[in-house]
Amino acid sequence: MTPTMTVDIPPLAQQAIKKIQDLLGPHGWIDDPADMERYLNEQRGLFKGECAGVARPATTDEVALVIETCSRAGISVTPQGGNTGLVGGAVPVYSDQCGIVLATERLNRIRDIDPLNQTMTVEAGVILADVQKTARDAGLLFPLSLGAEGSCRIGGNLATNAGGVQVLRYGNARDLVLGLEVVLADGRTWEGLSRLRKDNTGYDLKHLFMGSEGTLGIITACVLKLYALPKYQETVMCAAADAPAVLDLFGRVRAAVGDGLTAFEIINRFAFDITVKHIDGCTDPFEHSHEQYALVQTGGMSKDLREVLEETLAQALEDGVIADAVFAQSSTQAADLWRIRETIPEAQKHEGASIKHDVSVPVSSVPDFLTRATDLVEKELTATRVCAFGHAGDGNIHFNLSQPETMASDAFLNKWHDFNRQIHDLVMQMGGSFSAEHGVGMLKRDDLTRYKSDEEIDLMRRMKQALDPDGILNPGKVL
Ligand SMILES: Cc1cc2nc3c(=O)[nH]c(=O)nc-3n(C[C@H](O)[C@H](O)[C@H](O)COP(=O)(O)OP(=O)(O)OC[C@H]3O[C@@H](n4cnc5c(N)ncnc54)[C@H](O)[C@@H]3O)c2cc1C
Repeated sequence: MTPTMTVDIPPLAQQAIKKIQDLLGPHGWIDDPADMERYLNEQRGLFKGECAGVARPATTDEVALVIETCSRAGISVTPQGGNTGLVGGAVPVYSDQCGIVLATERLNRIRDIDPLNQTMTVEAGVILADVQKTARDAGLLFPLSLGAEGSCRIGGNLATNAGGVQVLRYGNARDLVLGLEVVLADGRTWEGLSRLRKDNTGYDLKHLFMGSEGTLGIITACVLKLYALPKYQETVMCAAADAPAVLDLFGRVRAAVGDGLTAFEIINRFAFDITVKHIDGCTDPFEHSHEQYALVQTGGMSKDLREVLEETLAQALEDGVIADAVFAQSSTQAADLWRIRETIPEAQKHEGASIKHDVSVPVSSVPDFLTRATDLVEKELTATRVCAFGHAGDGNIHFNLSQPETMASDAFLNKWHDFNRQIHDLVMQMGGSFSAEHGVGMLKRDDLTRYKSDEEIDLMRRMKQALDPDGILNPGKVL
């Protein structure tokens, strides 16, 4: 029955799995090794898992029954949404126990949309792009937006407290939620689908589950906040000589347009150039090369926003803060500019092996961080190519490294730990975070214990113990 698990499955667990199969029917259970493959691998190839099967419940009640059955039989459960996470959190790794994946893909209904309340109730398996589209069709905005939005699912976004490109204006995923429905580790369901914007009645439980990466409960549905759809949107790519100039520009644009600034991304020259070199449809809109680029997006209800932005950029040009700027004249051109930003990780694959860091520092420290981190890299291994880009307006930099051109990939990847240690030590010294968006999963578990205080780790362990005393939910992740 379970050719993809190397551990023996005890008889009690076998009976429980049979019960789950019967309960979910043929569409709700997968244990054919070829069909399971896509649930077992993380897309960057860093983690490969195994499990006894993939449960695909279609309702919250089915999730509850699966979890209750697993809990009684001591079967562990790894929840999985779109499996686009980048830290191995959704990969089932059960070296000494029986476990399954619980995939949310069939929990995919939009339950309700309330335009006046500006809320939408959706199930965990709805793809993020479909959430956005449903909101748009109702004349509203759901602002969470990230490169994987065509395949990640809203439950996964909340379980990782995803960030993305509009955090600056609308906050992280957790800021976009009013209520949650969660199946607990013993199979009970907490129906917390509040649609209230004000409710100070005891502990705010939803925030325990968001960002907990499937270790405290299974999110089955949520109430999301919607926003007015901006009538006017501008996208501009700016070029500058260095990172301090980019941050100077950030301050100027934010002062001029306030909340109208919805995204502010930094892209260094290497990251920019490799997209133009490797990705179809990416072209350099500038006549000359520049050291740094800023992708700026504004949105709002007033037509004047364009004029204010133009004036601000003209002044920045006159003051020598930026060297050039290209306004998108249509939504197609805006998409072309965004393509440069969104395809950097794909382009980086063409440049050989890479070592990645998803870090944050206070926004004002971004230039200093980039200088110090680049110096560290130079000292550790000259000729390493720094591919630094990210959400500068949130202080979140994807400080990625591409191997020296003449070095063997394996030799470079052997330096993964050394680079991680130095960069993470640096961000922590600068009051930053070693994982700004992607979470902890398996990849950054050691960092969690290295950088968090004993008190914080103790509180986290006690929360885990209180909510999942038998440790069946996503074992081996986060803690
Ligand atoms: C091209 C690309 C761009 C990306 N850009 C960004 C970005 O800008 N910002 C950002 O934050 N992330 C980004 N990511 C990372 C990833 O897309 C996000 O972490 C996303 O939120 C994960 O959603 P998912 O549905 O794929 O979750 P999965 O990968 O399936 O799961 C992620 C974690 O959540 C848990 N989980 C999933 N569903 C549930 C549930 N219903 N209940 C409880 N736990 C659950 C899993 O067990 C796992 O620990 C990017 C990834 C890619 C590939």
